[in-house]
Amino acid sequence: MGEGDQAIHQRTLAGLAKGLAAGEFSSRELTEALLERIAKHQATLNAFITVTADQALDQADRADQARASGNGGPLNGLPIVHKDLFCTRGVLTTCGSRILDNFVSPYDAAVVERLAAAGAIMLGKTNMDEFAMGSSNETSFFGPVANPWDTKLSPGGSSGGSAAAVAARIVPAATGTDTGGSIRQPAALTGTTGIKPTYGRVSRFGMVAFASSLDQAGVITRSAEDAAMLLGVMAGHDVRDSTSVDHPVPDYVAGLGKSVKGLRIGIVRQHFDEGLDSQCAASVKDALKSLEDAGAELVDVDLPNIGLSVPTYYVVAPAECSSNLSRFDGVRFGHRAEKPEDLLDLYSRSRGEGFGAEVKRRVMTGTYVLSAGYYDAYYLKAQKVRQLISQDFRNAFENVDVIAGPTAPTTAFAIGEKTDDPITMYLNDIYTIGANLAGLPGISVPCGLADGLPVGLQMVGPHFAEEALLACAYQYQQLTDWHQRAPGGFL
Ligand code: GLN
Repeated sequence: MGEGDQAIHQRTLAGLAKGLAAGEFSSRELTEALLERIAKHQATLNAFITVTADQALDQADRADQARASGNGGPLNGLPIVHKDLFCTRGVLTTCGSRILDNFVSPYDAAVVERLAAAGAIMLGKTNMDEFAMGSSNETSFFGPVANPWDTKLSPGGSSGGSAAAVAARIVPAATGTDTGGSIRQPAALTGTTGIKPTYGRVSRFGMVAFASSLDQAGVITRSAEDAAMLLGVMAGHDVRDSTSVDHPVPDYVAGLGKSVKGLRIGIVRQHFDEGLDSQCAASVKDALKSLEDAGAELVDVDLPNIGLSVPTYYVVAPAECSSNLSRFDGVRFGHRAEKPEDLLDLYSRSRGEGFGAEVKRRVMTGTYVLSAGYYDAYYLKAQKVRQLISQDFRNAFENVDVIAGPTAPTTAFAIGEKTDDPITMYLNDIYTIGANLAGLPGISVPCGLADGLPVGLQMVGPHFAEEALLACAYQYQQLTDWHQRAPGGFL
């Protein structure tokens, strides 16, 4: 089917850009069509916390005027939605939490600002696990998000609303953040493409912090091409984020044509252990075979300490979150308890009422591992193991260009299935967390269906290898059509 036959909502970002350029529809028409789609599916999916319809239509009119006068940025008139932890000026920014359920940000996050400056139109803010802590979107104060492939199932998390909205063809693209897997895992569970760039590639300014040494912004799209279009705009140095890196941003779209011939793809044996569902393993192996048939070389690599990544993460991330979340005290912004007796009562009741169970669990764990008596035994040890894991990746990348394997151990699971067992929930990120600990870029692309549910292939590269990852993902998407499969009922 040619692009011209496709309904607006079925098109990718690249397809919409062509339609706008050819005058098939205006940005206003496009925006209206997608706002209707958001409204139609909100009750079923709960993918949105806020819809910014009026603002979006204003932006769309401005984009149409810019186009008419021969102006407009590279994303002029294209719609996008933001995970609700990116600050948006004048718009509610909740982070999926009751403690911020009345917080209207006075400024835009760098990511929001850059995408808007390029002409992108924000349609709304997506649902997410509270403060991005979770793998199922069930910790959100605003309720769980449903997976469009089967609405009894979770879309994964924490960028669950972004992933569900893109998978359901409600919007072509969404931002997300990934601290331990929150872009890649929901992308895998919803059949979408998700990229987490190198730590420092995209500014964290205005992104509500969870674990500052691990958090990184990225995107969830329907194709590697769309991800390349957005990342090129989002990436780059920002003096307002001291960890943002001053490193040239390549033209990711221009780089997509690079063939996988001669690409050395590392395979980690431990990634195919018994923890991986057998049907997921089969899909991932098929994907690797297609890349091999296209000229890539598969090479075994060893990451001896990768098995320690989940326990290491669950010391480092809670430690950082216990510090970051201390700013939510009921005084400066967000939820404040009624009629406090004194200052301590104000703090403890505002936080007690404002935070959900998972956030409290992390703040308590983090405070414990940082406490005087336990710092050396837990936090310091975790930092040392983190270095070992980074070194394992550095060693592996002496022999291979990328490392590929499964994104998640299973396909989407039922809402409610893992909520009573945090450890089982934490294991969802067993294949993704290593890249965050080492600050490496990673991408997940759809590579099959198991019992009708999407499976993700993850590729991780050395620092600043986004261009290679996107090219490899793009080449794979030229060979296969898994990324074009849509959940029934959302065509
Ligand atoms: N699921 C992981 C956690 O709960 C990762 C979340 C994320 O990447 N934001 O911490």
